[in-house]
Amino acid sequence: MCMVQVGSTLKQSFQNYQPIMNGMVKEVELGFLEETESWRLESDYFPSKVGGKPAWLALENLPSADDLACTVCRKPCIFLLQVYAPFEEKVQCFHRILFVFVCKDPKCCKQNKFDNFKVFRSQLPRENKYYSSEAPDQDNFDSTKPHPSAAQYQDLCLVCGTPGAKQCGKCHRATYCGKGHQTIDWKAGHKKICNPEEESVKISANSSLFPQYELVTEPEDLPDKQEKSDEQKMKEYAEFLKSDQAEGSSKYHGQ
Ligand SMILES: [Zn+2]
Ligand SMILES: [Zn+2]
Ligand SMILES: [Zn+2]
Repeated sequence: MCMVQVGSTLKQSFQNYQPIMNGMVKEVELGFLEETESWRLESDYFPSKVGGKPAWLALENLPSADDLACTVCRKPCIFLLQVYAPFEEKVQCFHRILFVFVCKDPKCCKQNKFDNFKVFRSQLPRENKYYSSEAPDQDNFDSTKPHPSAAQYQDLCLVCGTPGAKQCGKCHRATYCGKGHQTIDWKAGHKKICNPEEESVKISANSSLFPQYELVTEPEDLPDKQEKSDEQKMKEYAEFLKSDQAEGSSKYHGQ
């Protein structure tokens, strides 16, 4: 139920990248970015998505600010994407999401290195304390029902949506993962709304996040699986009729 950092697994899969491309993987899933209603990207819809804040799966024991610090510069990595990848054969992985965070400083990006990336896996059994065991209703969305959210279990950083253990010293209501994001939010507008009496302190400008999209995946259309054109099929049929195969199949063979 807890978050497991899979940095070492990631490393391994990068090392195995070549053999995987040489035929170990039968099917490749391609991801496409699409705009969608924001409720489809909430945790209880188990989304695959890019940008915005993470839609956490397990809503507690989230990666800490330390887990999310860029290995190169120690600044917080920002949520890049998450992929819903359930593994239903295993009870514990009925729901499974992989989360990828990246440092936004281009200087931390080095060729063939992934020190500027942080990858986490979260998984839950079908019966769990956060979500219904029935699939979410995609057609009848009830906007009055609040979404289960990690914010119900701990304070989250107003800027990036990861655990926010630090509070604004003035209003004590805005929370942040660290000094860096507090400074960003202060400049982005918190200084104007920092008021212990007002609920609005929990709003952030969020300009440091990546734009948010749904990530829709489809199996790659490999050339040998593609539909043949009618012309191609007719040509093959004509060749088939001429061949011995056709003769053999149209005759009865006496005993
Ligand atoms: Zn960095
Ligand atoms: Zn933050
Ligand atoms: Zn404040």
